[in-house]
Amino acid sequence: MLFDSHSLKQWFLSQKRDLPWRETDDPYAIWVSEIMLQQTQVAVVIPYFERWMIAFPTISALAKSEVAQVIKAWEGLGYYSRARNLHEGAKYVLERHNGKLPSTEKELEKIKGIGPYTVGAIMSFAFHKKKAAVDGNVMRVLSRLFNLKDDISKPKTINAIRELAENILPEDEPWIVAEGLIELGATVCMKNPKCMNCPLKASCLSFLKGEEHLLPIKSAKFKTIQLYRDVAVVIAEDKFLVRCGKENEIMSDLYEFPYRERKETEDNKEWNAEFLNIPLIKIRDLKEINHAFTRFRVKLTPRLFKSKKIVPITDYEWFSVQELEQFAFSSGHRRLLQQVKEQRLYQLLAIDDTP
Ligand code: SF4
Repeated sequence: MLFDSHSLKQWFLSQKRDLPWRETDDPYAIWVSEIMLQQTQVAVVIPYFERWMIAFPTISALAKSEVAQVIKAWEGLGYYSRARNLHEGAKYVLERHNGKLPSTEKELEKIKGIGPYTVGAIMSFAFHKKKAAVDGNVMRVLSRLFNLKDDISKPKTINAIRELAENILPEDEPWIVAEGLIELGATVCMKNPKCMNCPLKASCLSFLKGEEHLLPIKSAKFKTIQLYRDVAVVIAEDKFLVRCGKENEIMSDLYEFPYRERKETEDNKEWNAEFLNIPLIKIRDLKEINHAFTRFRVKLTPRLFKSKKIVPITDYEWFSVQELEQFAFSSGHRRLLQQVKEQRLYQLLAIDDTP
């Protein structure tokens, strides 16, 4: 099969985007960037990456940080298991490798959160080995380039494309071509490919056959699940009631206001956050918030309540807005906290003497 690595390399060297992790060959920085880039757009990642490298400049600094600090630095990026795995991984590397990321596939694979793609990326971009990093971009490019009609959601196809990617890399500076494939997928060979701008159009089988829009074939799609949650924003004195997600929960280490799941059709007009088992005075409804995480879409229907005093409730804690600001929240509840702040609800209630 013909693969014009030379044209791709020249194109990449002249057209590549300036990205902060491309200015370093620090394996740790490359590891961090690759984990952040999973499921997340480049523009979103850049400020997170820059802040992260200031907060945790080395593997040792990350390993010695508290998990709450790590989650706070990740707040808003989603898929928090990535942050937890990075933290665990850093501790492992500090203990087993004296804080230096190992340079063999075998050792990298043992680090939590480092899968085949990240192994490929670190081996290639940091250690300049002949190793492909095959993500969704590369899968799309190669499917089109070689007019492959196998289903890319099947492990067999993924393995075959990984092998193909490795075989087509040149001996000379293979890491540039490996990164060029990713860049091509991200900026030219996108869902709607810009073939006229593509350095590989002369040899792209799908383009030559006019089939580029038909590929890649991908059967399995995540089904999105819609959830409805009634949220109780409860204030007592100047403190709000919140809960921190426990280990192994989907929102572990993230704070949220109390809520209950509701069926879409269920009437919530009289809902009074009964599950908290404390007397509450309903103040008013707050603005609804829609947010998404992993494969869930969530509609939050928040309601403001007042408790006459701070009552201990198992699994929940009371904090002032200033204290809550220091914690990491799930994205929907962070927006709700913003609403609480913008509307100065804590001040209104402080002077409100509703019985
Ligand atoms: Fe993708 Fe079009 Fe380039 Fe082929 S010619 S690799 S389909 S952008």
